[in-house]
Amino acid sequence: EIQQYFRPTKAIVDLQAIRKNVKNLKKLLQPNVQIIAVVKANAYGHGDLAVAKAALEAGATILAVATPDEALHIRAHFEEPDILLLGASPISFVPYAAKQRIILTAFASEWVQQAAPFIANEVNPLRLHIKVDSGMGRIGVRSEQELLELYQTIKNTINVELDGIFTHFATADEEDASYFDRQVQFFERCVSVLPEKPRLVHASNTATSLVKDTHLQFDAVRYGISMYGLSPSPYVEGILPFSLQPAFSLESELVHVKQLQAGDSVGYGATFTAPADMWIGTIPIGYADGVIRKLGGQEVLIDGQRMQIVGRICMDQCMVALPKAYAIGEKVTLIGHQGQDVISMNEWAAKLETINYEVPCIITARVPRLYI
Ligand code: PLP
Repeated sequence: EIQQYFRPTKAIVDLQAIRKNVKNLKKLLQPNVQIIAVVKANAYGHGDLAVAKAALEAGATILAVATPDEALHIRAHFEEPDILLLGASPISFVPYAAKQRIILTAFASEWVQQAAPFIANEVNPLRLHIKVDSGMGRIGVRSEQELLELYQTIKNTINVELDGIFTHFATADEEDASYFDRQVQFFERCVSVLPEKPRLVHASNTATSLVKDTHLQFDAVRYGISMYGLSPSPYVEGILPFSLQPAFSLESELVHVKQLQAGDSVGYGATFTAPADMWIGTIPIGYADGVIRKLGGQEVLIDGQRMQIVGRICMDQCMVALPKAYAIGEKVTLIGHQGQDVISMNEWAAKLETINYEVPCIITARVPRLYI
């Protein structure tokens, strides 16, 4: 989609890594279990269209998103596959969902009642997956009574079809299974009291499918973070059945290199002062690209070595301490491999006091995603 781009700052997304991860994940599945590739939030910041294509090539059959706009963007480029919208959809989207064959999440009887007049005259039926809130406390039915009421409303609504039922686990990536087991029990009870078994029962995210019992695969699994080559938690990382290959790198170049005299400072607030004469490089990436100020002091890779960002990160640029002069155009790796070393999403996540999921999502749209 990128016509022309001049700034050397770019995210490189390795689609081969994504295909490999999906193929390895697929080996863990029982026969006939489908893969739902979770490509919401622009495929966790990796680029929804390219990731969707790679995931489908590697064996995924269904794509999942979080919002109407994400669903329509995917559908405009992919005619065939099922698209499931995991979140709560506004009623105004219902006719569009039917026309574009997007499966919506039914999380409350009231929502289906409100949707009814907007679907009655559509040519295509609206397909729904019931969401069971087994413990996330987000959206979904929270009792058997609510479930059966929602089921009856769906049955009584013209031009609406029940296609699936699903839930989401809050603690699948933790060693302690007590809360997880309670969620499983409630979901299994919900599936068993439902008067019919819909086409797709699904519950597993990455962590569930990697470390829990295979019967939880049901008819489909929803793979997000693992497809991108990252582990959902340090606990899961420690017991991975195979290694995941991260797909996302963040790269730039030095655009200016200069010598500071001892006592010269760098950046807003002049917070860094050279203790001795030293070399400083400027990297054209800043907080408007998602390299937020909290990443001050983070290391980058230049010439295969770790070097530290110094001073405050600006909106579009930041500065790095160099051990010697480098030429303009010297490659800078902010995330990914260079030489023998690597700066991982987990390293950034630790620095930012967050989880790796958040890292590619915060790299803003100003940074183009280029595919290899
Ligand atoms: N299913 C639902 C409902 C989700 O919200 C998500 C992501 O947050 C996923 C599946 C994918 O989870 P993961 O990225 O841990 O595989």
